[in-house]
Amino acid sequence: MTEPLITLKNFFERARDGALTGVRCGKCGALAIPPKEFCESCHQRAWEPVALSGQGTIASYTIIRVAPARHAAEAPYAVAVVKLKEGVSLLGRIVDMPLDKLQVGLPVKFRPLVSKDQTTVGFGPA
Ligand SMILES: [Zn+2]
Repeated sequence: MTEPLITLKNFFERARDGALTGVRCGKCGALAIPPKEFCESCHQRAWEPVALSGQGTIASYTIIRVAPARHAAEAPYAVAVVKLKEGVSLLGRIVDMPLDKLQVGLPVKFRPLVSKDQTTVGFGPA
């Protein structure tokens, strides 16, 4: 057993610097993000890191009006599934975009959301 080159930990470390990194299966070519333990298509563990553009379009979105306690002050905000140019989808928080302008198909660009020592995935205007 070898360790994957990209772990969730360094996925978020790279994301913090603005680089979105996925993994591509060395056996079947499937792309995954964030990194997973095993390939969902062929159940192998033969990942190779691949740099992603961070560009994509909104595939679906939800506006959160009643947020969990730690995000209560930030509501309302939107969370979207973004289909990246490379073909994989990633869940992220929408920032700097008016909620009433959101629509499926809207182009967005990856943006790291850093608060204290935590990095989460965000998307802003393309
Ligand atoms: Zn595979």
